[in-house]
Amino acid sequence: MKSKLHFLIFGCIIAGVCVGVLIGKIDNQPMRNGLLNILDIFGNTIFVGALKMIVAPLIFFSIISAITSLANTGELWSIGWKTLLFYFATTSIAVAIGLFFVLIIRPGDSQNSDEIRTHWHQRQQQIESEFGLKKEKIEQAKDLTPLNIVKHNLEKIIMNPFRSLTEGQSLGIIFFAILLGIALIVVGPVAEPVIPIIQGLNSAFMKITGWIMAGSPFFIFCLVASLVGSLGPGVFHTLFWYIITVLVGIAAHVIVLLFICRFVGKIPTLKFIKGIQEAWMIAFATRSSAATLPVTIECVQNKLNVSPKAAEFVLPLGATMNMDGTALYEGVAVIFIIQLFGGMPGAEITLTPPVTIVIFLTAVLASIGAAAIPNAGLITMVLVANAVGLSVDYIPIIFAVDAFLDMFRTSTNLLGDTVGAVIINRLENFNSQTNLD
Ligand code: ASP
Repeated sequence: MKSKLHFLIFGCIIAGVCVGVLIGKIDNQPMRNGLLNILDIFGNTIFVGALKMIVAPLIFFSIISAITSLANTGELWSIGWKTLLFYFATTSIAVAIGLFFVLIIRPGDSQNSDEIRTHWHQRQQQIESEFGLKKEKIEQAKDLTPLNIVKHNLEKIIMNPFRSLTEGQSLGIIFFAILLGIALIVVGPVAEPVIPIIQGLNSAFMKITGWIMAGSPFFIFCLVASLVGSLGPGVFHTLFWYIITVLVGIAAHVIVLLFICRFVGKIPTLKFIKGIQEAWMIAFATRSSAATLPVTIECVQNKLNVSPKAAEFVLPLGATMNMDGTALYEGVAVIFIIQLFGGMPGAEITLTPPVTIVIFLTAVLASIGAAAIPNAGLITMVLVANAVGLSVDYIPIIFAVDAFLDMFRTSTNLLGDTVGAVIINRLENFNSQTNLD
């Protein structure tokens, strides 16, 4: 049964798309909304809720468990800097790929861009009534500067650990778990009885993940159907070339990641894909790297046989800070908006090389600051827009397709994290054999 799970999940994604399209065609609005609400309860409230329920304690215990299984703090330092360097390098590659395609394809200069420009004020009001909440969040993020984002993240890192656990603030949980893990190694024999307890709890969380996964095909069907049903027709038509650009960029980056995994991680591509496919599909459907984390750890450890020393440290860090898909998308989105509205009030920007470099740097930074939840990239994108003086009033143009693109960028974020775990496992000479041989 277990080995067939990915087929079932895949079938349920397809069925979810079909049912979602049918629901979207229902003219009776109360009936359509009622159905979408029921699907949302199963998909989001129950399934994503259950995954989120174990994320905070799982991050905490898995990081301590990974650190306490290392021989000494030198080994932790070695894993730590390699992980950060790998994540930073792949995120930068992702942004560069995105910028390359958006500058070549020029989606903002497409056939219907004049029409969008002319009817922008009308369209803005319509967007406001449809996506009021998102617009409000963008407005709140208006003052985001690189310094603000650093300060904001520092506040999230150095905080009361009980607060970070209850609020699910991953940066705070990770920081405290690393500190505690190091302290447990350093104090030595007095702390020894604590370590098996933490490792035992960690295994129990993985067991709970397995239970939640047993019902995943049905819940994923609900998630996909509710999302597709609420997208509405016509959404893809207006922003067709923008969607194509993001998808082409993401496809190119996926190829780069698989290439790195094959030649540096030394895992055959098909075996790697087989190993992570369940986590990949869960990320696609939930649009949250954080909610997918328990499944990611399970897949990478059990199916790719990556040592817990690498997986339990590298993956929580990756889910929180490494977002290749998000970074790529933020660079593409801002340049698309400049191509589309350039010259209009609040968008008097010319895409010179220095402006492009600022977009590159801020897109990397903004992706690190993005929370691992649905649509988070849309909010931190404000940082990129602010850095080049683009008015946030133009960002709503991409709201309608954001949830759709979030599926692709979240699954790419997950791919980057899993490749990171494989590479670190290989570089540190932990166990690099796969179970799939
Ligand atoms: N949903 C993404 C994630 O959880 C973040 C984003 O909105 O780009 O990884």
